[in-house]
Amino acid sequence: RPLGYAIVGLGYYGQQIIIPQFANCQHSRLAAVVSGDPAKAKRVAAEHGLPARSIYSYANFDTIRDNPDVDIVYVCLPNSLHAEYTIRAAKAGKHVMCEKPMATSVAECEAMIAACKAADRKLMIGYRSHFEPFNLEAMRLARAGEAGKIRYVRSEHGFVQGDPSAWRLKKSLSGGGSLMDMGVYSLQAARYMTGEEPVAVTARESTDRSDPRFTEVEDIIDWTLEFPSGAIASCQSMYSANQNHILLMGDKGRIELEPATRYEGNRMWLGRDGREREVTAPPGPGKTQFAGQLDHLVQCVRTGREPIVSGEEGLRDMRIVEAIYRSAREGRTIRLDGRA
Ligand code: NAD
Repeated sequence: RPLGYAIVGLGYYGQQIIIPQFANCQHSRLAAVVSGDPAKAKRVAAEHGLPARSIYSYANFDTIRDNPDVDIVYVCLPNSLHAEYTIRAAKAGKHVMCEKPMATSVAECEAMIAACKAADRKLMIGYRSHFEPFNLEAMRLARAGEAGKIRYVRSEHGFVQGDPSAWRLKKSLSGGGSLMDMGVYSLQAARYMTGEEPVAVTARESTDRSDPRFTEVEDIIDWTLEFPSGAIASCQSMYSANQNHILLMGDKGRIELEPATRYEGNRMWLGRDGREREVTAPPGPGKTQFAGQLDHLVQCVRTGREPIVSGEEGLRDMRIVEAIYRSAREGRTIRLDGRA
């Protein structure tokens, strides 16, 4: 039978994006909802044929341990709540899918990994790009040397954050500004496109602190990663313009994606020998990137394999995120390889 997911947080992503995706899954189904709004939870449950016993509040969430219909808890809450609900889910004996960013600090990520390990449960981060056909094809082309040796990467993600009251702009809920949101895509892409781990980071921030949106968190953050091969990645995120772009420059050509990591409509070009052509991608592992992601964790639960985007992968990003903030704050390059 398909394994059952409980969706924690019926906001934009949980309710509008993830829940409809179970229709595209082969191995996953919606089994429960967890919400602070009983009327909304009841409505969503009714829409999907869930019984009343599959509706939870944040207060009685821990009793989900007694629900055999729920195999996996999917945390779709504001960032600062990811650690708490991942740890509570693991203690309730459930596997966990946690949205990005994994948490708001390295210490939280480590506690989440430890809790899942202690409970012998899988932990996966909602890095959907690893199931998105164009990103997978770009990785394949890059690894196959289609652009030659990759020397330079650009990765830029942002959107106009228009609502000054959004939780994303409250540091206690978000953990930070654009870096904690779209910046995670820029950082992830630099790592999965090169297939390398950065050895140093240099960052700077630009935020108009008189703008009421940015009293607590950053707007633009721009950082350079240096990789062991000598490749450089120039990455950025912002809350003041729409951008969604990944560029790989090799010594024989270029691979470019724009938009690169949207829910749909991504496009890609390959440039080589003075010619540029748009390339399509073969189908990904799921009917959609979301279905591929949801079903991947189920397959990992069934086979005992580690998810390709495990808690450790989220932790690696969070270590770099902390170094990016530190570099911007201290105005210097931060080594990530332990060298002085
Ligand atoms: P949202 O504001 O639409 O939803 C958040 C939900 O959490 C709401 O239902 C809200 O009521 C609930 N909530 C519970 N406790 C809360 C509290 N103390 N304060 C505020 N809200 C509280 O946000 P969203 O866009 O759905 O984002 C949720 C998570 O999903 C974030 O971590 C975000 O980074 C992630 N996300 C991922 C993607 C992706 O493409 N992978 C896209 C959007 C969001």
